[in-house]
Amino acid sequence: MHRRALLQSLFAVPALRALPRLTIKDVKIIPTSAGARYRWVFLKIITSEPGLYGIGTANNAFQTDAVITALEKHLKPWLIGKDPDQIEDLWQSSHLKTYWRNGPVNNNVLAAMDIALWDIKGKRANMPVYELLGGKVRDAVPCYDHISGRDAAEAAENVQKSWASGYRHIRVQFGNYGGGGFLPPGEGSRPEGARNEPAFDEELYVDTVTRNFEQVRAKVGFGPKLCHDVHSHLSGMNSAEFCRRLQPLQMFFVEDVLAPENLEWYQHIRKICTTPQAVGELFTHPYEYYPLISQRLIDFVRCRVCAIGGITPAKKLAHLCEVFGCKTAFQEGGDNDPVNQLAAYHVDISSPAFGIQEENHFPPSVYEVLPGTAEIRRGYLYGNGKPGLGIDINETLAAKYPIPPSATGNPYRLDRALDGSVVKP
Ligand code: MG
Repeated sequence: MHRRALLQSLFAVPALRALPRLTIKDVKIIPTSAGARYRWVFLKIITSEPGLYGIGTANNAFQTDAVITALEKHLKPWLIGKDPDQIEDLWQSSHLKTYWRNGPVNNNVLAAMDIALWDIKGKRANMPVYELLGGKVRDAVPCYDHISGRDAAEAAENVQKSWASGYRHIRVQFGNYGGGGFLPPGEGSRPEGARNEPAFDEELYVDTVTRNFEQVRAKVGFGPKLCHDVHSHLSGMNSAEFCRRLQPLQMFFVEDVLAPENLEWYQHIRKICTTPQAVGELFTHPYEYYPLISQRLIDFVRCRVCAIGGITPAKKLAHLCEVFGCKTAFQEGGDNDPVNQLAAYHVDISSPAFGIQEENHFPPSVYEVLPGTAEIRRGYLYGNGKPGLGIDINETLAAKYPIPPSATGNPYRLDRALDGSVVKP
């Protein structure tokens, strides 16, 4: 070999092997009850590479059919033929193509697409999604448990059981949301012809729940990190008084003391007490959470990943939290699904702004319909480390379990006050 050719071969940079360009070949909408009573809607984006597809979720229990129609009629025809590698561009253009934006249904649709695209990207890279987000910064994702008690004694007992099972963070409720603040049917002064159902009273709630927490703390000590969800049942100074009374009890957080319509009150709460505030289960618009985070009025942001548009906005939200010293506490809970849980998991495990994740556990049928569903062991959420999200969907089984019809359109159950008016959930 000539000397020049030899040198060239020694110092030659091997050409990067470009990944073949993909296109989206098909989009499937997969509604299922998963063998339980769920109203889940999954999206499967199928690419031009044989066997390469992604799974997303558009879970919205209260507007299921609106979400299905939006996916079928408005996303699918637009998405087929596009390049699944361009996640950010597809997110931006899908966000704007409806002209009116940031509505809950639009965000569910965006999330389904976005999460499925991240799943595809991870599988294409042969890496879990968290590797593409910067890699793990913790070994597993701590979750908070849900316990309830009819009274303080039962709640304290259940806190101790949860603590013994490995949870360090425990959310304590006293019955349903608003529990502790209801006058039983037939009690209290009601208008003529009033409903015969429990009636919510703000002052009763503030008094009962704060006294209950005093008793729970007296019994369980300050080891367990206690949380409580007000579910927007309070208004104005009652929310501030509630947080002030809880201050000596060192809550880990109090969630949504106010409805999204009353966010300015957080400025007043911040001035009078240090009870940490977790806020935003109902947020769908960035301008709901940007001011609260940037003015350091809240401590944890509680968005549901598939309610704000998926992994792309969730990682941006986590970055914003990191800058301002706020933390993420992505929402899960009863009606949520394993794809949304894993979408949150990949952001959680790769973000320094992570605070806590809400727990969600599923019956055995869900692990069959959605193999790869994450597991919670001793208070920690574990993914399986497989490429992409690490979850699949058994379409045959999913089809076996259709979403049950609802004669009333499956509305969110609303509480009412003594005079019959609705209480914000
Ligand atoms: Mg909540």
